[in-house]
Amino acid sequence: MKQEGKVIAGGDPLAKIIDEKKLSLCVECGKCVASCPMAEFYDRFSFLFSARGIIKKALLGLDILKDSNIWFCLECDVCAQLCPAGVKYAEFVEDIRQLAISEGITKNSVVCPRCGRYYLPLPTVERLKEIMAEMGLAGEFIELCPQCRRDDMAEKLAFPTGLVKSG
Ligand code: SF4
Ligand code: SF4
Repeated sequence: MKQEGKVIAGGDPLAKIIDEKKLSLCVECGKCVASCPMAEFYDRFSFLFSARGIIKKALLGLDILKDSNIWFCLECDVCAQLCPAGVKYAEFVEDIRQLAISEGITKNSVVCPRCGRYYLPLPTVERLKEIMAEMGLAGEFIELCPQCRRDDMAEKLAFPTGLVKSG
């Protein structure tokens, strides 16, 4: 109810998120890119999916909800912690992904096959599977959301799920 009111009062929900997360305060210092773990995590790190790249496209008014590059960020919040301008980039990414999903743009959102909830972006899952394969680990371990993974593990160990602490 409150969320619906915010969207209507603010007009364009994407513009409202851009404003709330202070993207226009960016001074293009580059600290977010220099500190970002995506450069290590992805073997094809690109300006197009860096914080700077996405911020630039958002401020230019491009339709970033349809841009698959918004699904690479790991939402670690390191960039926001270091940003001298107070840009809340990880929160921005979280919000625009939720907005994209609510508008039916779901091809890069991975849902848990057990509970049906979105839990990770597709590029992250694909890269995690590559890394796990390189380490000789089974990729199916990340195919359930954290809660369902705990429940699944409890069932495999034959413990009643009600006895497993959540959170
Ligand atoms: S650290 Fe902040 S001000 Fe600097 S480029 Fe990144 S978002 Fe912009
Ligand atoms: S929140 Fe995203 S863009 Fe910022 S440092 Fe973490 S991975 Fe990089």
